[in-house]
Order: sequence, then structure tokens, then C-alpha cells
Amino acid sequence: MHHDVIVLGAGLAGLAAARDLAAGGADVLVVEARDRVGGRVEQTALPDGRLVQLGGEVVGRAHTAYLRLAGELGLTLVPSYVAEPGAIARATPEGVSAGDPPHWFAPGDDSCHRRVTAAFAALARTVDPDDPWHHPDAAALDRVGVGDWLRSEGATPGVVRLWEIGQLALASGSYERTSLLSALRKHAAVPGGAGDGVSEHYDYEDWEGLRVAEGSATVALRMSGELGDRVRLGAVVEAVDVRRGEGCAVRLAGGETLGCGAVVSALPVGPLRSVRVSGVSDERLASLHRQRQAVAAKFVAAYDKPFWRASGHNGLSECEGVLGSTWPQNEGVLSALVPPERYGTLLGVPPGLRERELLGDVARLYGDDAHAPLHTWTRMWGTDPWTQGYVTQWTPGDVTAVGPLHGTHEPPFYVCGSDQWVAGYMEGAVRTGRAAAKEALRRG
Ligand SMILES: Cc1cc2nc3c(=O)[nH]c(=O)nc-3n(C[C@H](O)[C@H](O)[C@H](O)COP(=O)(O)OP(=O)(O)OC[C@H]3O[C@@H](n4cnc5c(N)ncnc54)[C@H](O)[C@@H]3O)c2cc1C
Repeated sequence: MHHDVIVLGAGLAGLAAARDLAAGGADVLVVEARDRVGGRVEQTALPDGRLVQLGGEVVGRAHTAYLRLAGELGLTLVPSYVAEPGAIARATPEGVSAGDPPHWFAPGDDSCHRRVTAAFAALARTVDPDDPWHHPDAAALDRVGVGDWLRSEGATPGVVRLWEIGQLALASGSYERTSLLSALRKHAAVPGGAGDGVSEHYDYEDWEGLRVAEGSATVALRMSGELGDRVRLGAVVEAVDVRRGEGCAVRLAGGETLGCGAVVSALPVGPLRSVRVSGVSDERLASLHRQRQAVAAKFVAAYDKPFWRASGHNGLSECEGVLGSTWPQNEGVLSALVPPERYGTLLGVPPGLRERELLGDVARLYGDDAHAPLHTWTRMWGTDPWTQGYVTQWTPGDVTAVGPLHGTHEPPFYVCGSDQWVAGYMEGAVRTGRAAAKEALRRG
């Protein structure tokens, strides 16, 4: 069987690429290892009909590619948890506090926080998110971790702790092990609109202020519905042979070989390392194989009502327990992330005890009602064989080591996926998927 293009992986990136390729007149086939589409977006429903997202969930007003696609698919964007009234909670071993400032802040920490945040934003303005490699200080900015940079700027321990707890809440790896250049690049890609210095560090409205009312996994389901039998499930890609002008071959587990004119890889960087790829330059493979993912887990607890409101909380929290954060994803449904630094701790907990331990973290924030959920889900994305992570992680030196081939193509081998954007995310998947399709169509 021969196709114009074979797309590897039916996550948001692969489906967005295939949809545009099909619309452009290409004969396209998507091959997907799992028995479902969506990859890192996945949803289920409670018996009362409430949808529950077990993977990617929220987007921001700056995520233009995703918002445009959702519009094309006839989906509705509504405010996410950022619209919830109430205070953020922060939990550390020595205490729990609601609202700002956090309970460990000392006099002077607030002004110090504003100062270093403004310095970070100013430095980010010197970085081109599409080409951080040509920054005059690229190597030096990549070598240093955000934590060390903060201390070099005179940040107090209390301020470093605030940045760190916020970063662990996002679960993309400790700031002690995050390249400053990668953090500046991420910020430069979505610089934030408030301009007050503080919210510019990570603007929740820009990154997380919206969600698809019909469920974020519905974005993938709608695209898959449009593609119909051009999506093949249970098809594990084992090898790809790329031959310019002669046709490419995609070999599946079980031995079947499919022929095509071009290949679009929309696989996460972890699983891609297990696929034997020939006919592509060593430099490109080295760059792709050098990327890494943050290994995180998602925990979701569904309740009959949002009980945290009674104590003045909005359900958003930053924690130093096994959980790194919580936020309400839907009426009475609380999401939580376990960051990479605590993933090992969770793996060490006997599976039968994990729910109780994680609910203990939630109870510390919002009270004992946390112990009576209707249902919980623990999704260990970091050790899922078809994902091997959560979002892209850039430790010091990684931006330089991956290099300017990041997010580029080697026709007829095209690359997309959230890992090929600055910081992962659903925006990265859609943006790079559509860009790969455009480039493949342009080259015929
Ligand atoms: C818990 C969690 C929470 C998140 N929260 C958010 C959020 O709120 N907002 C946001 O913007 N982003 C979020 N993200 C990130 C976002 O979901 C992902 O970046 C995005 O969905 C990835 O899309 P993708 O198409 O690049 O990759 P994937 O969705 O991983 O798709 C890749 C596909 O390739 C398939 N595959 C792998 N190996 C093979 C193989 N050998 N053969 C065939 N198929 C294969 C996989 O099964 C998968 O379907 C979250 C992610 C997780 C895990």
C-alpha cells in the first residue's frame, strides 16, 4: 500500500498535520501505537456526565495556533480555573498559607521578587524564540540554571523558593536544573501582557486562561473523526527508511511495511529514540535524540462539589508535598501534578496507597473533605511507554546541544510535535503539526 504521506503518531500534532495534508489533497495515513487517538490529551466522563481530563487541559490567549484550530473544529473556548474566585494556597513543610505574600516571605522579599522578575523579562526581550542559538551570550545563558541566575541577581532564599515552587507546580523540572536560555526562550515566545513586572514571569492568562468547553481531548477526537479510516490504531512504528525521490518505507511491529512519498514524525522524543530511522542525517538524529522530557504524573480527584470554595480557596495551589500543584478543571473536579523531582517518590509508594497519600496532600490544603472523592485517577505519564514524559525539559546545556535543527525538517522527513516548539504544550503540537503539513505540501 503506498501513500503520499505517512504521519507517525495520532496526538494533536500528528492529527493536525494529517488534517491539513488531507485538506491539501494528499493521500495521508496516520499510524498510531495506542488503541485511541489523542496521545497526551485523554478524557473520560463521570456517571453524571462531567468530563474529566487526564492529560493536557488548558491553553492561553497567546496560543494562537490552538485557538484557531479549535475555532475551525467548531469548539468553544471558555475561561479556565483562572476565573475562579478565592485565594491560591501554598503548602510547605512548615506551613500552609492562602493568597500573597507566601508564608515564608521576609521583609524585602516582595520588592526583590519584583526586581528579579523585571530583570528576567528584560533579558528575555534579548532572546529570539525562533533562534536562541544566535544570541551573543547563548552558550553562557544555556550553561547556567535559573536558580543560579536568580542568586547571581541577588535574589533572596525566599524569592528563589517562590520561583521554584511555581516551577514545580508546572512540573517541567526544577529551576535548579533548568537552562536559563530555555526559560528566557519560553518567556520570549509568550512574553505576557500585563507589564507589571511580576505577572510577566509566567502570565497565567497567556498560558492557561482558557479551556475547550467540550473537553480538550475533543480537539483530537474531532480531527480523528474528520480523518476517518485514514487513522490506523494499534500500529506500532518500529523503523523508518527515508529515501529522497525513491519513496520511503515505514515498518510496523509484526513486519508489515508501508510505502510513502514522505514521512511526518509526530512522535514524542522518548518513543522516537526506539524507532530505527535510516536515510536521515546523523546530525538531525543526534539533535532529535538529545531532547528530553520532564517525567511527571497527573492526579485527578472528582467530588460532588468544589468544597475548597467554602474556605475561600480557588483550588489553585503550589505545594512542596508529593504533589506540586492543584487546580480546578471542572465543577468539583480537581487536577494535580506530580513534578519530576517527586515522581520517584510516588513510584516508590505501593500502588494501593498512592491515592491515600495524594489525597493527604489535598487535605492539607483544603481540609478533610478531600478524603471523600467520588472517583480518582492517577496517570503515570512519565513511565507511559508511548509518551515517556509530560512536556519538554531543558536542563543546562540542552538548548545548545539540541541546536538549531530543533523544529526543522529534512524533506521528505518532516518533524513535528510539542517537543519541537519552545516548551511543549498543546500549542506546540498544533503549531508544529500544521507547519510540517504546510512545508510538505509546499514541496509537493
Ligand atoms: C498530564 C499532562 C498535563 C498537561 N497539561 C497541559 C495543559 O494544561 N496545557 C497544554 O497546553 N499542554 C499540556 N500538556 C502537554 C500537552 O498535552 C502535550 O504537549 C501535547 O498534547 C503533545 O501532543 P503531541 O502530538 O506532540 O504528542 P503526543 O500527544 O504524545 O502524541 C504522540 C503520539 O505518538 C504515539 N506513538 C508513540 N510512539 C509510537 C510508535 N512507536 N508508533 C506509533 N505511534 C506512536 C503516541 O501513542 C501518541 O498518540 C500536558 C501533558 C500531560 C501529560
